[in-house]
Amino acid sequence: MNQQNLSDTLVLFNRLFVPVSKRKTEERSGVTFGNDSDRKYCCIYCNTVITDELLSVEIAGSHRHFKTNPKGNQFSIRCFHAAPGCLGSGLVTAEFTWFTGYRWQIAICASCGEQLGWRFEGDSSFYCLIADCLRECGDEKGGL
Ligand SMILES: [Zn+2]
Repeated sequence: MNQQNLSDTLVLFNRLFVPVSKRKTEERSGVTFGNDSDRKYCCIYCNTVITDELLSVEIAGSHRHFKTNPKGNQFSIRCFHAAPGCLGSGLVTAEFTWFTGYRWQIAICASCGEQLGWRFEGDSSFYCLIADCLRECGDEKGGL
């Protein structure tokens, strides 16, 4: 991608970005799993619990996003304040970020090591997990 394309991409991201409310971030900080949630989400590969509904968060005005990476692959992703079953892995970079002001790295299942999405960090941090890589725990079908 040349410099002009990158610049256009960043302008687009700037238009889409709405900061996460600070209050919401503070309320959710330090949370692990929400104990009273019966909607937990598991890794589709190994069934380890990754996160749950109570940890979901809106980023840029929406919990769910449809994003395309520089290779043209499209992803339906869901945003979570935390994903205790996930680990950030590898290089942290701002290049091609989907959310202005946030750097990202790959997020993998802490149990089986498969990529489940991405971890973003800036003023706050959050996970964008690929809907097709999660299932509601106990549900036979994959995808959220
Ligand atoms: Zn797994």
